Amino acid sequence: MLSLLHSMPPSFFNCSAQPASAFAPVTLTNGDVTATMIAYGATMTHLLVKDSDGEKRDVLLGWDDATQYCANAEHTYFGATIGRVANRIAGCAFDLGGKTYKISCNEKDFDTLHGGVVGFDRRVWAAIAQTASSVTWQYTSPDGEMGFPGAVEINVTHSIRADNTWSIEYSATSDAETVLMMTNHAYFNLNANVDNTATVLKHVLALPTTTKALEVTGAPDYHLLPTGKVLTIAPGSFLDFKTKAKEVGHDINSGVVTAQGGYDNAFIFESSETETVEKMPIVAQLSSPLTKIALTMRTDQPSVQIYTGNFLNGTDTTLRLQRKASQSFGSTPQYYHWRGAITLEAQGYPDAVHHSNFPSQVLKPGERYTQSTSYTFSVLK
Ligand code: BGC
Repeated sequence: MLSLLHSMPPSFFNCSAQPASAFAPVTLTNGDVTATMIAYGATMTHLLVKDSDGEKRDVLLGWDDATQYCANAEHTYFGATIGRVANRIAGCAFDLGGKTYKISCNEKDFDTLHGGVVGFDRRVWAAIAQTASSVTWQYTSPDGEMGFPGAVEINVTHSIRADNTWSIEYSATSDAETVLMMTNHAYFNLNANVDNTATVLKHVLALPTTTKALEVTGAPDYHLLPTGKVLTIAPGSFLDFKTKAKEVGHDINSGVVTAQGGYDNAFIFESSETETVEKMPIVAQLSSPLTKIALTMRTDQPSVQIYTGNFLNGTDTTLRLQRKASQSFGSTPQYYHWRGAITLEAQGYPDAVHHSNFPSQVLKPGERYTQSTSYTFSVLK
């Protein structure tokens, strides 16, 4: 199966009850970039950027039929807004303010992934403001949703800026003490399949401020839960993308955190605490030698989850996911390939609620959660 743990039977969630408007495209354009979103999950479905030939190419995995963001049993979280708490919470429970909260388990009873069975990615968001280049989505998560305390009101603004930047600004408040840590789950493939190169192994990645990574549980169970230990990355090792940029595939076979191998790691930046939103540090640079499309990621968050599509399976006919036309080469159906994408999920430290040495994700009434993350596109010389 796609993920050993989190694929769900299609019947568990009533997709046909979702309003058709949830899947209607909302287009944002500016500079050389055209983006399409849908209200379902406040999901980015297409992101067209110019390649070195001046052709617009779609650099995101997703579906041609937008209802598949709901209906497909292999719940990949393609391009979706994730919350209340992105990544994993061990044991589907946590203590806060002297109480224990039991939250929705969606990786058997081991943990809560990306907010639980019906996370923010499965909610229909309201567009409360819109221009030709931006949209603000709003969702109010009621007290107790998926077991989390407090009613939380969230605004997420996606903008395409004239400098070919996709910018995401989150802002949220709660009426009671709770935890919140959000992300967007875009799967990038900068090859855009111009010659049917199915994987991202030749993409070149640099993480200029990453010196540390979180240790997680691996074999034999591969639950990917942080142990609390913050590892210092040895220069030249599997996780080192700071000393020099390297191909994603260079050391990928050393990945051991999942049975499928590859990267599925929380990388920790040196420090972003003193940076202002206007002057966010560059935390990742990714490029494709094939299309020469380059992406520069900035964020005010302390970590990025890098996941190399280890659970995608393009060969098993029961699991394979058909590529969008804009991510295919030629007209015969093609399927998203193992290691066919890379995510760059801005985040806090995963499972912070269980590790007092990790920065807190507690949100109190009267406080505001904010996050700014952006991806700027350019073409290599
Ligand atoms: C996680 C992966 C997971 C993927 C899709 C990523 O954020 O790190 O382990 O398989 O999301 O759910």
